[in-house]
Amino acid sequence: MDVLITGTGDAFSSQHHGSSSLVRGPEGWIAIDCPGGVLRAWREASEVSGCLVDPFEVKDIILTHLHGDHCGGLETIGFMFRYMYPGSEGKPGPRPRLHALPEVLERTWERLAAAMDGSRGTSEAVHELETYFEPHALVEGGEVDVAGCRVKARRTSHGIPTAALLIAGPDACLGWSSDTEFDTELVTWLSESDCIVHECGEGPKHTTSEELSTLPEEVRSRMRLMHRPDTAPPLDPGLSLLGEGELLCIKSST
Ligand SMILES: [Zn+2]
Repeated sequence: MDVLITGTGDAFSSQHHGSSSLVRGPEGWIAIDCPGGVLRAWREASEVSGCLVDPFEVKDIILTHLHGDHCGGLETIGFMFRYMYPGSEGKPGPRPRLHALPEVLERTWERLAAAMDGSRGTSEAVHELETYFEPHALVEGGEVDVAGCRVKARRTSHGIPTAALLIAGPDACLGWSSDTEFDTELVTWLSESDCIVHECGEGPKHTTSEELSTLPEEVRSRMRLMHRPDTAPPLDPGLSLLGEGELLCIKSST
């Protein structure tokens, strides 16, 4: 399973893109989160890794939650597919699928409407979320298919509805903590995967490196970190930070 790391920053980073990645599923690329400047993040990661991704080939977006450093690029992607799709000759392009917890989907349009509803200064909205995206609910305790991968979601403790993910492809499984306070039960749930990408935001409603250092070596050896503040000191040995443009080739450990 290939996972291209497209952003490793936290919400206040001036050096990195918002924490995000592109996962190569059997039926196409899946974006995990969609930060502001998303097309630049994807292009730069493509160039660094040599793994070229055409943005129009990213037809599935999993949105973990509605903080701006995770969802600020949705307007770009929605407009891009609708109005810039190659060969669509003025007709709307295909809608990308947007996968998120039901309560996240319910409020996504609140963030986008002012820029995307086409009301031209009147109160009459012309467009809605479904104009641009095909919404699909992630089911906690269940499993959904995303581009040929089996995706499970679990709510995290982060102040607003947020989903951690297990994404199982044909040959390996990725665990994605998303934004969360340190939660050993969540880590246990994520440990079903072959590689855990965990946040290390250090602040309130986030996880600290000190907390992650308490995890067993067996878990830490399969864990890579992101969402770390620009000003945070270097990590202790035994913890490993991801880099933008890094291409993880995850193999099943069984
Ligand atoms: Zn957040």
